[in-house]
Amino acid sequence: MSVLTNNVQAQSVNPVLQYTVSMPNPESHYFHVELNCSGWKEETIDFKMPNWMPGYYQMMNYSKMVENFVAKNDNKDLAVTKANENTWQINVTKNRPFTLSYDVKADKQFVANSFLDTTHAYIIPNSLFVYINENLNIPVSVKISGMKEGMKIATGLESIKESKTEFYASDFDILYDCPILIGDLEELPSFKVKGIEHRFVGYKLGNFDKVTFMSNLKKVVESAVAVIGDIPYKEYTFIGIGPGQGGIEHLNNTTVSFDGNGLDNPDTMTTMMNFLAHEYFHHYNVKRIRPFELGPFDYDKGNKTNLLWVSEGLSVYYEYLIVKRAGLINEQTLFNNFESSINAFENSPGRNYQSLTQSSFETWSDGPFGKQGENANKAISYYDKGPAVGLVLDFAIRKATENKKSLDDVMQLLYWQYYKKMQRGFTDAEFQQACETTARISLAKEFEYVYTTKEIDYNAYLSYAGLRLKEQVDYDSKSKKYSFQFLDTKNESQQKVFYSWLNK
Ligand SMILES: [Zn+2]
Repeated sequence: MSVLTNNVQAQSVNPVLQYTVSMPNPESHYFHVELNCSGWKEETIDFKMPNWMPGYYQMMNYSKMVENFVAKNDNKDLAVTKANENTWQINVTKNRPFTLSYDVKADKQFVANSFLDTTHAYIIPNSLFVYINENLNIPVSVKISGMKEGMKIATGLESIKESKTEFYASDFDILYDCPILIGDLEELPSFKVKGIEHRFVGYKLGNFDKVTFMSNLKKVVESAVAVIGDIPYKEYTFIGIGPGQGGIEHLNNTTVSFDGNGLDNPDTMTTMMNFLAHEYFHHYNVKRIRPFELGPFDYDKGNKTNLLWVSEGLSVYYEYLIVKRAGLINEQTLFNNFESSINAFENSPGRNYQSLTQSSFETWSDGPFGKQGENANKAISYYDKGPAVGLVLDFAIRKATENKKSLDDVMQLLYWQYYKKMQRGFTDAEFQQACETTARISLAKEFEYVYTTKEIDYNAYLSYAGLRLKEQVDYDSKSKKYSFQFLDTKNESQQKVFYSWLNK
């Protein structure tokens, strides 16, 4: 990109923000951050650190990790006032360039935290780069300085003039959507889907059959793309940040905890493909097909929505189907996947207390998987009930349309109507409307499973595909165990529905 001017000019009218990140003492786990700022017309400026990152719906209070915040103008220190926990207010001379610098502690290894040690660095931009209050739309550049020899960078950010260490974001939403991984990284041979490059780059990938892994991953991407039919990015990067738990989705990349050791075991490979299918499908479902409330992001207060059960729960639903449709698992494994979600939900005492919409809204206080400890019986996880309701909706739509339409058509409608055409998210009512438009009937009865705690009548829906759920009670543990079975006789129509569900 060539929109950046490296020479600061006093008469420049557009603000220019240039970040430089260095790691002088990686063993101390501190990043050093400098911001060169010019072309700013106000005299009082509020710099803010986000409190959270989209994709991880918890207050992270990143500003707590910031130390030694200094502002300078013409080599003179400027007064810095802390307006609140995550806001630094400075007074500058109009139109004169100035510099900020601060250190960020990064000693906790987690997918939603920045981390630094002598071997590698992982940057969550939301925890490293302050923005100017109410000015998220300003372009920004980031330079990584003082990297050890042999180290490489993986990020979804665009390079400046093909530089390996300087990057550009058209605004802060893009910057905050692109984590940066630095270290002795390994890149696996990339693949193309519909002519578009997909890469897998990571730190400490481990020993495994990398050719089979990438061939499986390509099938997963193709199968996910087939649900929507369109690829909205120029390039996509899977970024493996090392062993650990969890992943976070972005528009053109995902950062995933990854340990390839053990992938030679077919079950471990299947679990990994499910995980990657889930994170990858999110680039549609939540990043583009999104709840109305999830944009623009409020990096201060968070964005509460009733619809995380769609963004997360239906991503679990599709994760299961994508891996099956990719030909990587058999029917029994697909059933086992659904059984694990249904059994977890049906045995959670919170299922009589909290609806899907409530669990979505309350996640900021309940935690990522619902309340824990002594209040665990007051909450459910939308990761478990979401795919169960996905089954109900998919089969209700198939039944109403004689299998001509499915939940896939709902996802496509949301993508084209709200993301592409209206460029906004959908409301609760609009999601139900999209399902009903596709089904051409009212689905009020089915949406009771979304808005209330009404017991789910699975078999009323599964029978349409010649399936049923058998319930067994384990009297010792007082738990229920559900398992998928085929109906004794399956007619032609049930066969057809079953195979079109599995194969798209
Ligand atoms: Zn997810």
